[in-house]
Amino acid sequence: MGEIAIIGGGPSGAVCGAELARAGHSVNIYDENLAWEKPCGGGLTYKATEHFPFLLDNPHPKKLIRDVEIISAENQRAKLDLSHPIVIYSRRVLNGFLLDRAREAGCGVHHRRVQTIDISAEKPRYSLDGEWQQADFVVVASGARNQILPGTRPLSADELEMTQGYFVPQTAEKIIIKFLPHFEGYIWSFPRADHISLGICGSMSAHTSNELRTHLYAFVEEAKFSTENAKFYSHVLPSPQERTLSCRPVIGKNWAMCGDAAAWVDPLTGEGLFYAMRSGEILGQSIAEGRPELYPQRVRASFSLELEFAARIVRRFYRGSFLGCSVTTRMVQFLQRNAVFRQLMSDLFCGTQDYSSLKNRVLGHLGGTLSQFVSSVLNIEPPARKLRPTAPAGD
Ligand SMILES: Cc1cc2nc3c(=O)[nH]c(=O)nc-3n(C[C@H](O)[C@H](O)[C@H](O)COP(=O)(O)OP(=O)(O)OC[C@H]3O[C@@H](n4cnc5c(N)ncnc54)[C@H](O)[C@@H]3O)c2cc1C
Repeated sequence: MGEIAIIGGGPSGAVCGAELARAGHSVNIYDENLAWEKPCGGGLTYKATEHFPFLLDNPHPKKLIRDVEIISAENQRAKLDLSHPIVIYSRRVLNGFLLDRAREAGCGVHHRRVQTIDISAEKPRYSLDGEWQQADFVVVASGARNQILPGTRPLSADELEMTQGYFVPQTAEKIIIKFLPHFEGYIWSFPRADHISLGICGSMSAHTSNELRTHLYAFVEEAKFSTENAKFYSHVLPSPQERTLSCRPVIGKNWAMCGDAAAWVDPLTGEGLFYAMRSGEILGQSIAEGRPELYPQRVRASFSLELEFAARIVRRFYRGSFLGCSVTTRMVQFLQRNAVFRQLMSDLFCGTQDYSSLKNRVLGHLGGTLSQFVSSVLNIEPPARKLRPTAPAGD
């Protein structure tokens, strides 16, 4: 059995480590922060809880939310009632819980920073405080911010989102999503067990940090959140393009990347926790079987085609228009008035509807203008009926 070093003990590294240790490998996980409040909403959808039921079935503090309010750039409001709750964790709790599972499986978990990795020799090496250590395989699970493997292509500014936010010391019972005029991103409020993670994400190539801050402050004022004693945060989030998802190498001779380091994030929603955990799991299983080369194709079969779909429509979603109004505003208007569309969005939001099968559902069940609207966002042909576009249809 081999010696595996995992750099990063976030969700991807911790899940990967647990898989490998259970299969009998000697695994060391290094994290410079361990269980920390990594800037994040902390929301996990049904996709995640269905595949990893332990995310629900544990005694750790978490919040289960079914009510979502979606607000357009013009402050029109719509409500969603989710059939499956979004489970929201503080990242300190979630990371700690996943690292405990990795320890229980047999991993060594170390509070250390890895400076660099060298993959030029027969076996990979990594440096801890200037001292080189050797392993049989190195897993890079160090998140979006760190580029510690020389020779891999870093994500460019047009494939990163900037995020800013607050951990607000108050509680709430609904998720809020707010869109902004001519803005590639959104504001969110995610209630957790004992605070709210409130923040904004926006394309790094399209918006400045000042722009983000201004929008965030305006929302905080308008929605009457108190930021007194609230901790401010900022971080980056991968927003990969299709070519990156399909072509960027995530594995080499004796190394592989998972989670944010591999850019496995939904570029439309910013959802990354499930993909971090799932990619860590698939990588761990592939290495344990002695077939690490199967990792990319297994990820493709599992979820990366979904992310590629999202990458193809993200610009139309945030920048596109339909009948003279932005797509996001039209979306809120349809949500206000059409129960079938509400159900569809609710299923997308909680993760029971994937992007790939959306086309069939749209063509089969949505009528008239609504079908044209969704088809225009998805860039598919609407049903071949004579349709005369008008304003959003009623129920
Ligand atoms: C503001 C924000 C909000 C988000 N909200 C959501 C959400 O609600 N739902 C969702 O699904 N996703 C969300 N995401 C995405 C989600 O946070 C990430 O996809 C997820 O954390 C990726 O997990 P990971 O294990 O790959 O990386 P990370 O969680 O970033 O973990 C990487 C770990 O590596 C460690 N590390 C880095 N470099 C080194 C080094 N050199 N040596 C040792 N340790 C190192 C770090 O300390 C860190 O613990 C959000 C992201 C942001 C920025």
